Amino acid sequence: MQSTGLWPAVLGEIELSISRGNFMTWFKPTQLLKCDEESVVIGVPNVFVKQQLERKYGSLITDTLLKNGISTTKIEYKIHSVTVKKTIDNPIILHNGGAVSGQPTVASHVPSSNSPSGPNSVSRGLGQPYRQGLNDRYTFDNFIEGSGNELAYAACQAIAATPGTKYNPLFLYGGVGIGKTHLMQAVGNAVLARNPLARVVYVSSEQFLQGFVDALRFKKIADFNDFYRTADVLIVDDVQFLAGKEKAQEEFFHTFNTLHQSNKQIIISSDKPPRDIPTLEDRLRSRFVWGMSIDMQIPDFETRCAILQTKAGTHSVELPTDVTEYLANNIQTNIRELEGALNQLLAFCEMRGIEPNLAIVSGMLGASKTRPKHISAKQIIERTAKHFQISVDEILSAKRDKDIVMPRQVAMYILRSELHLSFPKIARELGRKDHTTAIHSVEKIEKEMNRDNDVRTAINDIKELLYA
Ligand code: ADP
Ligand code: MG
Repeated sequence: MQSTGLWPAVLGEIELSISRGNFMTWFKPTQLLKCDEESVVIGVPNVFVKQQLERKYGSLITDTLLKNGISTTKIEYKIHSVTVKKTIDNPIILHNGGAVSGQPTVASHVPSSNSPSGPNSVSRGLGQPYRQGLNDRYTFDNFIEGSGNELAYAACQAIAATPGTKYNPLFLYGGVGIGKTHLMQAVGNAVLARNPLARVVYVSSEQFLQGFVDALRFKKIADFNDFYRTADVLIVDDVQFLAGKEKAQEEFFHTFNTLHQSNKQIIISSDKPPRDIPTLEDRLRSRFVWGMSIDMQIPDFETRCAILQTKAGTHSVELPTDVTEYLANNIQTNIRELEGALNQLLAFCEMRGIEPNLAIVSGMLGASKTRPKHISAKQIIERTAKHFQISVDEILSAKRDKDIVMPRQVAMYILRSELHLSFPKIARELGRKDHTTAIHSVEKIEKEMNRDNDVRTAINDIKELLYA
C-alpha cells in the first residue's frame, strides 16, 4: 500500500502526545518503508532509535497506527540508509558513549566537539556545516505569510539576510502553534544556506536549562559557556521557561551580553511579551526589548486557507474549497492543530482511495470534537479529581497516599499537554512550591502513557470529559 500521508499523520499525533525532545530524537528521523496487511516496516537511522522505539514506544505506535486505520500488529524496524543520510543533517548526539540515554535532549546542548563520540554522534570536522538543533523542514519557502505573522516574517527575512545587524535581539511572542519555532528555524536554515560555516545554535530554554544543570553537575560550565558564546546565531525558543531560574538566567544574561557585544544575532521566542514573564530578572527583561519585539497572532482565515492548500499540495492533493474553508473555520487558534487535522484527513482518504470531501471532514472533526478554546487549569484539576473519585482538596493537599499522588501527577501532565503551562506554574496550580515535582510528574506520566494502557485510557477519558 502506497500511503504517503499515513506516516505524517501518525507522527503528527505522536508529536502531540510526547515531549518535543523525545519526538525530535526518536520519531523525527523515521520513515514508513512498507505497510500492508502483513506488517508495517519503519525505517530508522540506527540501532539506538530502533531499540528505543521497540522498547518504549511500541504500544504508542501500534495504537496510533490503529487510530489511522492500520491494524497490523507486526511492526518491524529497519536500519535504512536514506533515513541515516537524512539524520546526518540533523545529528542526534548521544552523550554517554553510546548508551541510549533516557533523556536524549540532555545531550544536545553541550559542545559536540567535546562530546565523547557516541556511535551515532556526528562530529563536526572543520569546514562542515554546524546546525545544532535545526530541522530542515522549517524554511521560509514553506512558511505562508499573512496577516498575523507578516511583521515577524519580514523581520526574520531581514535577519537571515544580514544577521546581527538589525533587530538584535529579535523577540517573537504569541500563543502555541502559530509559527514561532518555524520562523526562527527558517532563519537558522537560511543563514546556513548562505554561509555553511556559520555556527547556528537552536535550543529550547528547557534544553538550555537542562544543559546548565548538567554542566554544573559535571563541572563543565566553561564548555557550556563556550558552546553558546561562540555562536553566530543563537536561537532560544520558549524562553518563558527560564522564569524563576535565577542561576540559569544569570548564565544566559552573560551569554546574551557576549554575543550582543560582538554583533552576533540573538533570536528569542516566548508565549508572552517580556514584561509579562513572571520572575524574569529585570536586566534580562530590559535586554529582551533592546532590539525588536513582535506580537505574532494566529493567521487570519485566508492565510489559514492558504496554509492548508499549500500543505495539501506537498502531498499532491488538491483540497476542495469547501473542505479547506471548513477546516480553516473550525480550527482557529493553532496551525499545528490545523496541520494535524489535514494530515488525518489525507491519511483517511488515501487509505480508502477516495477524495477529501465535506462530509468526511465534518464527520472527522465532529467525531474528534473540536476543542473549545478556553479550558482552565481549575477545570483540568476538577475533572481529574472527579475521574479518580477524590476531592479537589485532596488533590491539592500534601498527602502522599498512592491513590492521591497518581491523580495529582496526571493533572500535572494534562496541564502541561493541554495548556502548555510552565513547570513552575503547574506546581503552583497544584499548591506546590517546588517545580521539580512537576517536571518529574510529567515525565513519569509520559513514560507510563507509553507502557500502561490504564493510564492512557484514564487520560483520554479525562480529556473527553474536558472537551465534551
Ligand atoms: P509555535 O512555535 O508558535 O508553537 P510552530 O512554529 O511549531 O508554532 O508551528 C506549528 C506548526 O504549524 C508547524 O508545523 C509549522 O510548520 C506550522 N505553521 C505555523 N505557521 C505557519 C505558516 N504561516 N505557514 C506554514 N506553516 C505554518
Ligand atoms: Mg514553538
